[in-house]
Amino acid sequence: LLGDTIGDNFDRTVATHPDREALVEVPTGRRWTYSQLRADVDRLALGLVAKGVQKGDRVGIWAPNVAEWTMVQYATAKIGAILVNINPAYRTHELEYVLNQAGISMLVSAESFKTSDYRAMVAEVQPKCPNLRTVVFIGTPEWDQLIEAGAQGDPAQLAELQAKLSPDDPINIQYTSGTTGFPKGATLSHHNILNNGYFVGRGCNYTPEDRVCIPVPFYHCFGMVMGNLACTSIGATMVIPGQGFDPKATLKAVAQERCTSLYGVPTMFIAELNDPDFESYDLSSLRTGIMAGSPCPVEVMKQVVARMGMEEVTICYGMTETSPVSTQTSIDDPLELRVSTVGRVMPHVEVKIIDPETGLTVPRGTPGELCTRGYSVMLGYWEEPEKTAEAIDRARWMHTGDLGVMDADGYINITGRIKDMVIRGGENIYPREIEEFLYTHPDIVDAQVIGVPDVKYGEELCAWIKMREGAEPLDADKLREFATGKLAHYKIPRYVMIVDEFPMTVTGKIRKVEMREKSIEMLG
Ligand code: ATP
Ligand code: MG
Repeated sequence: LLGDTIGDNFDRTVATHPDREALVEVPTGRRWTYSQLRADVDRLALGLVAKGVQKGDRVGIWAPNVAEWTMVQYATAKIGAILVNINPAYRTHELEYVLNQAGISMLVSAESFKTSDYRAMVAEVQPKCPNLRTVVFIGTPEWDQLIEAGAQGDPAQLAELQAKLSPDDPINIQYTSGTTGFPKGATLSHHNILNNGYFVGRGCNYTPEDRVCIPVPFYHCFGMVMGNLACTSIGATMVIPGQGFDPKATLKAVAQERCTSLYGVPTMFIAELNDPDFESYDLSSLRTGIMAGSPCPVEVMKQVVARMGMEEVTICYGMTETSPVSTQTSIDDPLELRVSTVGRVMPHVEVKIIDPETGLTVPRGTPGELCTRGYSVMLGYWEEPEKTAEAIDRARWMHTGDLGVMDADGYINITGRIKDMVIRGGENIYPREIEEFLYTHPDIVDAQVIGVPDVKYGEELCAWIKMREGAEPLDADKLREFATGKLAHYKIPRYVMIVDEFPMTVTGKIRKVEMREKSIEMLG
């Protein structure tokens, strides 16, 4: 394990690879070598100090994927301020909640993103946020002043502040995606996330030659830890294809920047693979990448390998609370296992699978609740001791709420979330299994399965399906015909809805809670 702080680790990489490219922002063409990035980060860090930011203060960042996001990440880490990632999709109600829950004293924000006017929203909530003293909008004269103030600062003062930090200090509050309910603020240390980024990078066999395309949001651990920290701990290049996800912009960035690695949640890869211009992009530089965040369909993984040339692609499984990654497939695993499991436990992390009722470890091959322990487990939920105690037990095991199975060789399969399991007429059904099956239908591009209440069986399955363009829409009868003989009768969805979109979080996770509500409404 690395024993230093994020700032010291970053400086070490800069010292080793000063002239290597650190960061590329494709839409604007802006680029930084490691030494250029360090100069900007240090100026910003001293600028924050000039604004009165001290160790332990919470600094919020509310912006899409722009280079300044990354600079704020490293600048706050250098002075020991706690960075609070704010979801770019938030609106005033959620923004106000986060600003107050985390006690944010300084907010760095974009002026706007897509159709959202951040400046107006900040102005609306600011009077209701007593802790919030300073707001700076990126790319405005105020931002320039902040950097200018930093340029006047004393680099020796920064070195002194940096030397006083401990790797176990809290450095980041990341709110969970809010897939299952209200987001919780996972409080993470330098040690937590620096090491997780580093080991994920090693799991991808990164070297300073690698160029990593990061279309996943920085606000989420997938972007800022598995993306940024993996790159900077090794000296690889971070490539930002756009402020938000766009399949074409991502494919273009890979081709133009000769990226060797590409990240995404499954829905992003599905969108790229199904882009009408897919064939026109030269993706031959791709070697590896990471698919993670929600169940990774085998069919999609196979296409990523075959059509995108990502021979060494890995799957990661984890959660915000565990920095995030707990298991990763390895390039050395047989392909079949690399596309169908979430791999084995990461170095220095423990995993066990328990019977949630008894708390006892179940035999290999038996599904149960996955628990993890190790350096990666968060310090706790920010100012929510009861929730922390519910999630992390006295022996420091994090109870994930996910169902998993471990085979004799230690390969783990995530069968779903405990909350998503459907019980139909006494049979436990894992929607994941039905989804995997639906992907084998030639006209189905994407599929999600949920349980809806049923008088007779308790619950019935409902499938939401995205069809290939021009394909004849399926209905429940046609699906039954396709599935009969392949799936047990009780696993064939009773209801089928053809949709264009799924309700999603900004991280691309399917909001099954919302799907369930909408299905109940539509089914009357
Ligand atoms: P919330 O906790 O607020 O409801 P969330 O759990 O979706 O939201 P995250 O921490 O972003 O927030 O996501 C972690 C969850 O994502 C895991 O608990 C798991 O259910 C799911 N997940 C992550 N990676 C994978 C994967 N490779 N396969 C299956 N599920 C995954
Ligand atoms: Mg969660």
